Amino acid sequence: MKITIIYDNTIWNKKLTPDWGFSCLVDAHGTKILFDTGAKENILFDNMKKLNIEPSEIDLVFISHGHWDHTGGLLAFLNKNQVKVYIPDSCDVGVDTAVKVSDALEISKNIYSTGNIENIEQSLVVREGTDVAVIAGCSHPGVEKILEKASQFGTVKTLIGGLHGFNNFKIVADLQNICPTHCTQNIQKIKALYPDKYIEGGAGKVINI
Ligand SMILES: [Zn+2]
Ligand SMILES: [Zn+2]
Repeated sequence: MKITIIYDNTIWNKKLTPDWGFSCLVDAHGTKILFDTGAKENILFDNMKKLNIEPSEIDLVFISHGHWDHTGGLLAFLNKNQVKVYIPDSCDVGVDTAVKVSDALEISKNIYSTGNIENIEQSLVVREGTDVAVIAGCSHPGVEKILEKASQFGTVKTLIGGLHGFNNFKIVADLQNICPTHCTQNIQKIKALYPDKYIEGGAGKVINI
């Protein structure tokens, strides 16, 4: 699977624009998923263009939660490509046709939602054999709960996304890859504790797992 960070507080690729928010392209098992849509549509589209990602190639949109820095580009994106949108059932993004997720579900073969955790956020889970990778928006329910929910689909080996104030560092000791980005407050501590697992984030970063 390949994950390309499109929108992030920081940049990996200097040609892109950093801005508070998150969006990435998850390309796995032949499906291209736009995970969250950043805060501002112009930055979303400009960064996509510089990464050679066409809106028309996206198969579906997965919204982790209803906060503005994850949904800002959604309506403008749907104007370009009217794909199916998955949102947590507790959030309203102004899309009548959106699939409102409550319990865990399979979105496409070997790709799942954790379900709406704590009535605020869902995470995306991609399975490869018995291993799974988890992509999180802000981790408002807590990384503990997210990893627990994701574990129903396999052994969690990878965690990518915003981890907010996460500080229970021992629970990620068994992961192979961790890319803490966006709103993660303790990026430097995670990097210092797990230098061999740590992957630096930022808009333009491409992660191949
Ligand atoms: Zn949030
Ligand atoms: Zn956020």
